[in-house]
Amino acid sequence: MAMQNELVKSLAKKPATLLYPFEKYDSIPGSRGKVVIDITKCIGCGLCIRDCPAFALEMVGKGPTCDMKWYITRCVFCGQCVETCPRSAIIQETTYDLAGAEKAALVIEYKRPKSS
Ligand code: SF4
Ligand code: SF4
Repeated sequence: MAMQNELVKSLAKKPATLLYPFEKYDSIPGSRGKVVIDITKCIGCGLCIRDCPAFALEMVGKGPTCDMKWYITRCVFCGQCVETCPRSAIIQETTYDLAGAEKAALVIEYKRPKSS
């Protein structure tokens, strides 16, 4: 009987889950999502790459002229790179829905603006 009561109660309630990806939760303030690098602040010290536990960051080139790559599929969203960067060049946005079908789209490149 208890189970039947629970069943009837559940039928009257809204579903606890959303029909993702057609419905989405709002990002949670303060949550660790997309890694964004302000390449203009980056001095190419490589400390973020050294400290990343998931090998999710790559430097393309060397020193202050380098570009950076972030591999979404490797990242564990730990926030260590944000903590490590001495120039505060890395932030984590709250964006969480980063999945995609194309492998190339899962690598974000942060390129320096070309100097004229
Ligand atoms: S959030 Fe963590 S796993 Fe992702 S790039 Fe930064 S240090 Fe690496
Ligand atoms: S730690 Fe900061 S300054 Fe150093 S390479 Fe990474 S993003 Fe650039």
